[in-house]
Amino acid sequence: MRIRTLAAGLLAGGLLLTACGKEGTPAPPGGEGTNTAALPTYTVAQNVDLPGSATFAKIKSAGTVTVGVKDDQPGLGQKDPTTGKFEGFDIEIARMIAAGIGVAPDKIKFVTVDSAAREQAISNGQVDYYVGTYTITDKRKQQVSFAGPYFQAGQDLLVRADDTSITGPETLKGKKVCSVTGSTPIQRVREQNLTEPANIVEFQKYSQCVEKLGTKEVDAVTTDDAILKGFAAQDPTSLKVVGKPFSQEPYGIGLNKDDKVLRTKMNDLLQKSLDDGTWQKIYDATLGKSNATATKPTIQPY
Ligand code: GLU
Repeated sequence: MRIRTLAAGLLAGGLLLTACGKEGTPAPPGGEGTNTAALPTYTVAQNVDLPGSATFAKIKSAGTVTVGVKDDQPGLGQKDPTTGKFEGFDIEIARMIAAGIGVAPDKIKFVTVDSAAREQAISNGQVDYYVGTYTITDKRKQQVSFAGPYFQAGQDLLVRADDTSITGPETLKGKKVCSVTGSTPIQRVREQNLTEPANIVEFQKYSQCVEKLGTKEVDAVTTDDAILKGFAAQDPTSLKVVGKPFSQEPYGIGLNKDDKVLRTKMNDLLQKSLDDGTWQKIYDATLGKSNATATKPTIQPY
């Protein structure tokens, strides 16, 4: 797995070099050419106090914040296998929030929590908050709370580049479809009978599904378009996104269900980042590179 990731990274690096070297080739919109876009720096807030927030009290006494994230989603939340550093849109949102509640960058501890383990990790305090392509749903709201939404995605399909038979969710019957345990997309495949139960393949991580697409053990990977575009951008000669999103996946920051004070603070910070251009800068330097559409979200007041 490590070797594969490394190989994918080298491949992506090679492609970027090739693209830069081609004279007279216009850069794709939002692509590498337009995007030497630097990440914003976040001012660490001083003297923050959030009376009534148990999570904040815990963060303050620990002097560190523990943030749950994904580690295999290019452009969103990915751990560099060489440096061990996390990067992507979700990671930057997490950093911006940490700064806003007074936590310095070196005091942020990122821990990987895959889709199926999120509610538990948040409610048992294993993470202080969670930023990882986490769709706000009524069902999840019974266990956790959400700040946001800070991004709007939609369920889509990733297929092999030479596949002309899969053109949308209605063409999946008889095809092997892979997604992740505990995710909204796999639930939708089941509920809407998009393929036969025996044809549903399930893993803990989307990168495992993408691997099986390459080896032809599955025919499609389904999840949010933002995630799939990141994988396709890493290997555009073998993979493509169908590009017909068929759901609404508003991403929220997951946090303790009872912590209304922290939720309100996070919403204020998200709103500020949308208003002052920080959100756009984050987008341009991360997700914008794989051309996922930037739909600015509307923060929901509590
Ligand atoms: N946004 C969807 C979800 O929260 C799919 C992506 C994921 O599994 O993180 O389930």
